[in-house]
Amino acid sequence: MNIDILTEDRLAALKDAIGQAEKIVVCCHKSPDGDALGAVLTWVEYLKMVGKEPVAVIPDAFPDFLKWLPGNEQLLRYDKHPEEATQTIAAADLVFCLDFDGLDRLDLMAKAMEGFKGRYVVIDHHTNPRIPGALELSYPSMCSTCELIFRIICQLGGFDEMTRRMATTLYTGMMTDTGGFTYNSTRPEIYHIIGLLLTKGIDKDKIYRNVFNVYSSWALRLRGYLMSQKLNVFDDFHASYFTISRQDMKNFHFIKGDVEGLVNEPLRIKGMKLSISLREDDRRDRVVWVSLRSVDDFPCNQMAAEFFNGGGHLNASGGRLDCSLEEAEKVVRAAIIHYENLLKG
Ligand code: 5GP
Ligand code: MN
Repeated sequence: MNIDILTEDRLAALKDAIGQAEKIVVCCHKSPDGDALGAVLTWVEYLKMVGKEPVAVIPDAFPDFLKWLPGNEQLLRYDKHPEEATQTIAAADLVFCLDFDGLDRLDLMAKAMEGFKGRYVVIDHHTNPRIPGALELSYPSMCSTCELIFRIICQLGGFDEMTRRMATTLYTGMMTDTGGFTYNSTRPEIYHIIGLLLTKGIDKDKIYRNVFNVYSSWALRLRGYLMSQKLNVFDDFHASYFTISRQDMKNFHFIKGDVEGLVNEPLRIKGMKLSISLREDDRRDRVVWVSLRSVDDFPCNQMAAEFFNGGGHLNASGGRLDCSLEEAEKVVRAAIIHYENLLKG
């Protein structure tokens, strides 16, 4: 099965960019998920394999359930070390942007990019690349950036040297961005790639457990509470939303990652087409993080762009509102009503 993805031109441009670069930074979007971290960690390993000395810089914290990922101790966090991160970026001549399509997705780290004078290369699977002057390796048909990274490494001739660690981080990203291969994951190439990753000795069942079956008892209770007390279901609209307030987080000793993926849960209701979660920022006032999930052809990304200052994929998108949680609820209700025709149909 042919899994080449880059055109000859783009492959040559990528080789050139890597070959000429002296100082490389690899980064990903804020609140890195499994795909973002998997892509960064694998790509850094690959670049080291070909003799480079890349630095991985990430905007902020990632969930505890990803702390086992091999190599994560080398990640430089902007929120913890803003000066070092800013200097590293300013001194770089090549920045790889993995798993995001615009500098706004870096949140506060976007500021550090102002001092960067070199070239950007975007390796991503979102729909709307918007980093000026970048070499764009942007393929929305990929299930994950990790799928794309695998294909690119193969095309660069790196498969034989790929280590078990790299295969592990790649598989993690493919698995998390598809909800354990339950959505956005019907193309046969994905399973061909999984087969190839298995030849590197990864333990896919263990990876699944490491990521998905590691709740604290508090996290499980918080999730149950939110579903039983905070879920609003609009049966006629096949839509639902729930809120997570800072008080909820306090009551259940919230730590990052505790509600990861919970927005998918309401889609288990028969006929449900759209699920939205609204989460208050754990520190900043009047910042509400929005997550949207849908099934079939309901365009979450369109709704996210129109109502929530965001975007993303057709079935999984996000955004942010700068208002109170109560005001954000009003926006959600308006959004659901606005999309009445698509939702009720
Ligand atoms: P999550 O709900 O996991 O935060 O985000 C789901 C997906 O939506 C992400 O993988 C990303 O593609 C997209 N996304 C989340 N937040 C934003 C945002 O603020 N802007 C854009 N353009 N996309 C976002
Ligand atoms: Mn992704």
